[in-house]
Amino acid sequence: MSAKGPPRGANSAPSGGSTAAEPQAWGDHNPRRDRIASTVRADVRALSRYEVADATDFIKLDAMEDPYALPRELADELGVALSRVPINRYPSGSGRVVKDALRHALAIPDDAGILLGNGSDELIQIVTSAVGRPGAGVLAPDPSFVMYRRNALMAHAPFEAVPLRDDFSLDVEAMLAAIGRTRPGVVFLAYPNNPTGNLFDARDVERVIAATPGLVVIDEAYYAYADASFLPRVLEFPNVVVIRTVSKIGMAGLRLGYAVAHPDWIDEFDKLRPPYNVGSLAQTAVTLLLANADVFAQQAASIRAERARLCATLAQLRVRAYPTQTNFVLVRVPDAPAAAAALRAARILVKDLHGSHPLLAQCLRITVGTPDENRALLDALERHLTERPR
Ligand code: PMP
Repeated sequence: MSAKGPPRGANSAPSGGSTAAEPQAWGDHNPRRDRIASTVRADVRALSRYEVADATDFIKLDAMEDPYALPRELADELGVALSRVPINRYPSGSGRVVKDALRHALAIPDDAGILLGNGSDELIQIVTSAVGRPGAGVLAPDPSFVMYRRNALMAHAPFEAVPLRDDFSLDVEAMLAAIGRTRPGVVFLAYPNNPTGNLFDARDVERVIAATPGLVVIDEAYYAYADASFLPRVLEFPNVVVIRTVSKIGMAGLRLGYAVAHPDWIDEFDKLRPPYNVGSLAQTAVTLLLANADVFAQQAASIRAERARLCATLAQLRVRAYPTQTNFVLVRVPDAPAAAAALRAARILVKDLHGSHPLLAQCLRITVGTPDENRALLDALERHLTERPR
């Protein structure tokens, strides 16, 4: 691997302005910047872009991807199928074929509806804008997936964050009190939770569902690595949508998420879905790949086994690894920014969460990689911890 400068991390400063030359006639006065300031919403201008680190030549353990590429034969078969897609035409608007493939591969209840999204990120955005408004905002435990808060902001819906307990379990009494006080339009529960990795108690989730006047979204992005799911029970409740993604099971590049709920809910959300939001190459690829679901099941099984090995070895180092039902592990180290920098110097990317939330002080989120990648991570981390002054 070549030695390059450090990538821009997700915590780095927002990008600066453009370096293009300005017309001389403008002098010190910049009419474009003035126009942007008077036109773009102040809350958008105050945001920073969601930075994605450039991972070229790094071992990438920062984004919860499945580390395994497609087997050669399946990749070739995919190439042939994709070469036949009529890309001069818009994709299927209904996504019927890919929905049938999802239904078949994932035992989605027959009478449930499905909505496809350009990643589950888009589904979070659609649901939030359909429901969120002043007086019926968004509520989520904290820390949890950052996009719940960000989408609430974009939808002009108030966001209520309810702290998790110190052990990252749901503080159900605090949740119920906040639900009673704020009457949210939608509660997001990541099940299991990102970035903590744990699965909330199902009875606590049921209490939240029963108490919520609006909708509860159960976000099962990590279902393939968890021992429980609300998907088979989605129609048991009048107010539950389960959202999932193919991103964490080996298809992150395709950008496909799906929401499962009673068709009456799906019909409402479908009105906000941009037409043709999932491209024809992604639809064809997911359909073909789901017909080979055993490949991905095998990869998930390897990742689960590797996760157990990784956690066991981490426990022998001077770090605390928290229980996880995902393809990542949250660890607490003596100095997370220093550990992340040492790993970066060893060409390994992890997510430094220090400073993002008081419960995550000195925490790193480490995606489970291949056995070789995990070995490299453990070696670099052990080296850093032993070289560090105690
Ligand atoms: N939900 C959770 C809990 C996540 O962690 C992520 C990705 N980090 C997503 C949703 C979004 O996934 P995608 O848009 O790739 O489907």
